[in-house]
Amino acid sequence: MSKNHLRRVDTVIVGGGVSGLAAARRLVDHGRSVVVLEALPRVGGRTLTKREGETVLDEGATLIYRAHDNAFRLARAHGVELFESNAEGRFLLHTARTTRGFRYGNSRAMTLFGAPALRPLLRPILRLTSRWTALPAETMLQVLGAVSALDKLAATIPASAPWTAPDANLLDSRTFGSWLDEQLPDPGARQLFEANFAGYLPETTSLLFALHFLGTWGSIGSLLAGPAQVYRFRGGAQELALALSRSLSDRVVVASPVHSITRHSAGVVVHCAETEFEADRVIVAISPAGVQHLRFDPELPQDRVTLQHAWQPVHGRKVNIVYDEPFWRQAGLSGSALTDLDAVPGLLDASPADGNAGVLSGYLPGDRGSADPGERRRTVLSVSTTLFGPRAAEPLHYHEKNWEDEPFAYGCEGGLAVGALTSARRLPKTPVGRVHFAGVETADAWMGFLGGAIQAGERAADEVLAAG
Ligand SMILES: Cc1cc2nc3c(=O)[nH]c(=O)nc-3n(C[C@H](O)[C@H](O)[C@H](O)COP(=O)(O)OP(=O)(O)OC[C@H]3O[C@@H](n4cnc5c(N)ncnc54)[C@H](O)[C@@H]3O)c2cc1C
Repeated sequence: MSKNHLRRVDTVIVGGGVSGLAAARRLVDHGRSVVVLEALPRVGGRTLTKREGETVLDEGATLIYRAHDNAFRLARAHGVELFESNAEGRFLLHTARTTRGFRYGNSRAMTLFGAPALRPLLRPILRLTSRWTALPAETMLQVLGAVSALDKLAATIPASAPWTAPDANLLDSRTFGSWLDEQLPDPGARQLFEANFAGYLPETTSLLFALHFLGTWGSIGSLLAGPAQVYRFRGGAQELALALSRSLSDRVVVASPVHSITRHSAGVVVHCAETEFEADRVIVAISPAGVQHLRFDPELPQDRVTLQHAWQPVHGRKVNIVYDEPFWRQAGLSGSALTDLDAVPGLLDASPADGNAGVLSGYLPGDRGSADPGERRRTVLSVSTTLFGPRAAEPLHYHEKNWEDEPFAYGCEGGLAVGALTSARRLPKTPVGRVHFAGVETADAWMGFLGGAIQAGERAADEVLAAG
């Protein structure tokens, strides 16, 4: 297409991740004309599925939680199959060089046990029973206490205006990491907590932002409750984006990075290398760190730019280790484990639904572990061997995906630096005139998850529809 070929649609969507595609789908369902401009030659963004022979490997998102109804709805509507991920067998916890197996409790119990009033009663009981339970009493109490305190604090933050919370300035002036230092002085408790949260938020993020982020989950106890009722896509997580894209047909244009957006009182012009699109409105469905790379004319207001500048991405690697079968199941193990080892905070069973191969998958925080790929592989395999026995040392294949290397991804997740929310007094989702924002970072529910990306996309589409 030549540059002077100006195309006209009702709405341009920048970004062909799950969020942008969900926005487009909703607009098309309401009779609007759209174009989705995706920078990469593929759709799916942070969902990326690779095949090793017949075996599906997710290099980005893997799991879908039961609470993410919108993902189930879109999957059903587009013929994408989900299955319940294996949760049978013991879960392993490796702390202080000791591996213990246990079966997970439920989230209600977690929240109840974390209640400060119950802690004095619980302490002697846990001391007595800790030799049979997976964790020392103090570690368990600290983790449960921190979870309960976070849930309680998060409930005090107004979702649509966190800067109006009681103590907002105080909460925004300190990092999430400094709060964790106080709440979790026991190194084992801190590691366990971090292993659960690896990849969601940088420690340097503002405590106020962390509470806003966690508030979109409802209760964080539900995540710590464990791997039951967790689902995966039979054909890999990218299937959802691919199916949405197929349904949108030639409205999705890949290999089209947007570099600038001109704003007029009556519309917008969105510029790619080869084409320009004129539209009433634009939905920018990329991370705030990515928006920072777009040129706006006229420029976005300073408070919006503050949020983009303050976005701190979290980088990480996804590892998939492939075996001929999920051998750990024969030993009564679920394949899921948390550790206190910096380099490998956790692993989970990501084997295909039919169990025709065994896959252990893990998230490796980008700022931990060795920079040398060979050394990293040796560490990961040595940890998996400690957890699951000698067969783990001899995989058929070992894959690593470093998301820091992925162009246009801007990190796995992220958070706002201290002071950003109280100084900008706006959220990353707040539109600027005819420019609307989607992407998981703007979600009202389940920020950080595919469910959040979908919610954000559909919410931005609803904003456009409501504007007429
Ligand atoms: C390793 C990893 C593991 C994860 N695990 C899970 C999990 O198990 N469960 C879960 O629910 N979530 C998980 N997530 C999070 C989930 O993948 C994301 O929340 C979700 O995919 C984000 O979707 P999005 O559409 O908001 O953003 P993205 O997927 O990032 O999509 C944005 C798109 O915009 C494109 N783009 C960027 N700049 C431009 C531009 N200038 N012009 C045009 N296009 C542009 C990008 O190429 C990208 O395709 C994981 C993420 C990672 C990285």
